[in-house]
Amino acid sequence: MCLSSRTASMVPAAAIHTCRTAIMTHLQQVLDEIVTVAAASTDRGEVADYVPELSLADPAMFGIAVALRSGQVVEAGNARVEFTVQSISKVFTLAIALGRLGDGLWRRVGREPSGLAFNSILQLEQEDGRPRNPFVNAGALVVTDAILAGSEPREVLTELLRFAREAAADDDIHINKDVARSEARTGDRNRALAHMLKAQGNLENTPDRVLGTYFHQCAIEMNCVQLARAGRFLIGARESALISADNVRRINALMMTCGQYDGSGDFAYRVGLPAKSGVGGGILAISPRRASIAIWSPGLNAQGNSKLGTMAAEMLAARTGWSAFS
Ligand code: GLN
Repeated sequence: MCLSSRTASMVPAAAIHTCRTAIMTHLQQVLDEIVTVAAASTDRGEVADYVPELSLADPAMFGIAVALRSGQVVEAGNARVEFTVQSISKVFTLAIALGRLGDGLWRRVGREPSGLAFNSILQLEQEDGRPRNPFVNAGALVVTDAILAGSEPREVLTELLRFAREAAADDDIHINKDVARSEARTGDRNRALAHMLKAQGNLENTPDRVLGTYFHQCAIEMNCVQLARAGRFLIGARESALISADNVRRINALMMTCGQYDGSGDFAYRVGLPAKSGVGGGILAISPRRASIAIWSPGLNAQGNSKLGTMAAEMLAARTGWSAFS
């Protein structure tokens, strides 16, 4: 039986090494089993097609990677194939905005689950232009507008990329311009949201400026290994130059309550870990104080979250016993 990190400092280094190796071996077995189950699955959900470039994804793809707080990474399946992180980028922009503005951000955006689709327009008019949370599209547009204050879109995107690259310790992370352009061509719902926000006085920049930045942030491309590494800043086990411990807790809380849109309650029940999804089929989940998990499978469920990704997160939590609640 491996020792907890609290007692690990009292045992010889060799024992800790043996223990870590056993954990890695077990994790590898779990990930391999998940990949086998995913490969046999015939109901893989629907690939998003409202952004033409996203519809080109191969639904047969499935990748998973786990980055432990020690920095070690375990991976299986198509964990080195890149995909655009889409709404998972909202976690990174929120981290930047909260770091910069603190609680002032909450004057413009709420912290409640919306119970509606990620791109819903309904609530925004009913609630006077204050989006329910930073992870629905309307809320993310406000967050992007907030970090655009006094900066050019190019500077914000550079800062965002710098954040992701530093978090992942990987300078190869980049933006897929084809996907950004593709969404810009077809992003009429987001355009409607941005103009509504502007009309309601909750957008400082022009809608076009905010949308252009937002489409590019969504088109940040990573593979599962890079994303799992990038998510380590949310594990919360050690001091980070990127984020305060308070903001780690706050963002994890929002991921738990709002990260899977109107599927957040079901995800919390089935998986029990804070997580954020993207319509590219990625899911970033955090096992607090333990690990950052990235899963990718392009087919989505009815709520726009990766179908097999959700299944895989549930399996991983069950096999490892990882939960935010125990
Ligand atoms: N770029 C996508 C959009 O705005 C992101 C949505 C998502 O990943 N859920 O529609």
